[in-house]
Amino acid sequence: MSTISFLNIAMHGRVNPTLPVVAELVRRGHSVTYHTSPAFGKEIEATGATVFLYPGGDQPLPDPPTPVTLMEGLVGTAVGLVPTVLTELRRVQPDLIVHDNACLWGAVAARELEVPAASSFTTFAFNRHVPSPTRGSWELLAAATARPRSVQGYLRSRRQLRRRFDTRGLPLLDLGNIRQPLNLVYTSRAFQPAVEDFDQSYRFVGPSIGARPVDPSFPVDRLKDPVLYASLGTVFNADPQLLRGFATELAPLGGTVIVSTGQTDPEALGPLPANVLVRRSVPQPEVLARAAMFVTHGGMNSVNEAMYAGVPMLVVPQGADQPMVARRVVELGAGLSIRTQDVAKGSVRALARRLLHEPRFREAATTLQAAQHKAGGYRRAADELERYLHAAGPVSQSASVDPSQRG
Ligand code: UDP
Repeated sequence: MSTISFLNIAMHGRVNPTLPVVAELVRRGHSVTYHTSPAFGKEIEATGATVFLYPGGDQPLPDPPTPVTLMEGLVGTAVGLVPTVLTELRRVQPDLIVHDNACLWGAVAARELEVPAASSFTTFAFNRHVPSPTRGSWELLAAATARPRSVQGYLRSRRQLRRRFDTRGLPLLDLGNIRQPLNLVYTSRAFQPAVEDFDQSYRFVGPSIGARPVDPSFPVDRLKDPVLYASLGTVFNADPQLLRGFATELAPLGGTVIVSTGQTDPEALGPLPANVLVRRSVPQPEVLARAAMFVTHGGMNSVNEAMYAGVPMLVVPQGADQPMVARRVVELGAGLSIRTQDVAKGSVRALARRLLHEPRFREAATTLQAAQHKAGGYRRAADELERYLHAAGPVSQSASVDPSQRG
């Protein structure tokens, strides 16, 4: 049995898919550690992993969260965290490190310790159709020119990191796209645009959905069909009026309408029709298993989970990679998309009606559902990691094992 160390950044969307993988590895007898922020400690501990909390409490996301501020934040955070992380991992002696594709300190730790590493992509994998937000580009250059202090901060931290640690092989700029000889991507090949661009180091394992902690306060038995669900995710501060608009527009079409408000106070939505259930957080996979349609911001996890459940979507992208995800959903026929500024009275209801009554949306969603299930999910992810470990041999070797050659 092996010791496997996960390192991640503090975002639900980045952490969630790793949880069932960790639980599965623990079930198979591996010893797993997980470096995270305090906000995620309990949830991760429940998987059976040993949790290490980053020093300094929860790290706030850079504000505004643009590629330039993100890059500055990632390198600055890495400079601060790597010494502690290294001290802890030297005690743990991992055989394998698994880090998020933007978790720079995970990749640095793997190089320093000369341990094989795998990267975990909870977004699309990046290629010509899905450009990484931090790749060298004219847009990035223009954004950097507008924020000279962020650029200075980035360069200063980058120099510090290079002076103190082994950063060979890490991307100079593209810190949101740190690749390793094994890259786990939590969507299916069917959903990834231009999937033929990727070599064998990419394994499209599909959505990693496992048992989540039960929420006994959620009235799953009292839901009435058709269940219509709306959520703008956990990261973006959703406009209460927008959420209220979804609730009132969907209410006449639904048995039960469920609105998850995330960062937004449910009270801010004001009084709503009796068949609307509003919560800050709902057991999403469970809700999707009952839902007839889903109004979503197009967060990659939410969309993966909806396809896994075969639910047509109305995507209302709020930022980040969501417009791209929305385009892909529409391209594959599993839903419709609308811009926030085009959400006028009546438009959501009209589009929701189409999703509910035109069979082609459900049919496309069902085709994707099959692909999402076939991809293998968390069990396949655990298989791939084990195969990779096996290829690396019993003694930890350098981080240059190509699973396509040996696995
Ligand atoms: N989620 C949940 N309950 C909610 C809202 C969201 O469990 O009420 C989970 C959802 O299942 C998904 C994650 O939070 O796994 C959201 O990730 P996504 O990438 O869709 O969006 P983000 O929150 O990162 O914008």
